This record gives sequence, C-alpha cells and structure tokens, in this order.
Amino acid sequence: MDTINNIDTISYLLSKALPFVLLGVLGFNLIQMLFKAGWNRKRFASFYMTCLVGGLTVISILFVQYGVHDLFLIPVFAIAIIIPIVKRKEFFPFSLSCAKCGRGISIRKILFEDPAYCDSCEKIEADKDPGNITT
Ligand SMILES: [Zn+2]
Repeated sequence: MDTINNIDTISYLLSKALPFVLLGVLGFNLIQMLFKAGWNRKRFASFYMTCLVGGLTVISILFVQYGVHDLFLIPVFAIAIIIPIVKRKEFFPFSLSCAKCGRGISIRKILFEDPAYCDSCEKIEADKDPGNITT
C-alpha cells in the first residue's frame, strides 16, 4: 500500500505512531471505567481526547493514502491544538488539589474521582450526604 513517494513524510510517520497513542488514551478511558463506574467529567475528558487522537489518526492515514502534502497537516494540527485550548474545562478537568480546600490529593483521585476531595473533605461530604460518595 505504501508507495516510495510517501513513506518519508510526516503524515506517514503519524499514521504509524498515532494508533499507539490512540490505544493508550482509549486504554486510559477503559481503566477509568474500572475504577469508577459511570461517566463523570474526567471520563468524558479522556473520551474527547480519544476522539481527537482518533480523528488525527484517520486524517494522517487518509493523507498517506491519497498522497496529500504535509503542509496541509498544519491547519489540521492547528485545529487539534485550538480545540482543547478553547474547551480546556472539558479536556483538562484533572485538578492536582482538593476541589474544596486546595490540599494535595492522591494520583488515583486526580485521575478518577469527580469532584476530587482530599480525605478530610471527603469525610465531611460523606457526613452531609451519606448516599453521595461511594468510595
Ligand atoms: Zn479538601
């Protein structure tokens, strides 16, 4: 399938590398499902990233397939960079500190819990509403 003309292009390199990135992001999304059932903002964020990387993968494969010049990757990647910046609350909800008091929290809470509270704030929230927090 790959012709001599297009194997040394950036789009060829991306078409070979991006599927592994896609698997990584998709795997992270599935791991989030294992740690916390249901959909929260953090799971949606990894889903959006999966869609973005999947779109870039498809576009790079199409560029290689149809021999589109690499210069046309510039607007594609500009859009792929601008979308997460404009929608940063949806793409990056991973706060490094407690949503209530600002103390540091564990990596498990950073990646999976939404909203992410430290242990003491989580206990306070659990006392307020016993059915709310399940962990
Ligand atoms: Zn706290």
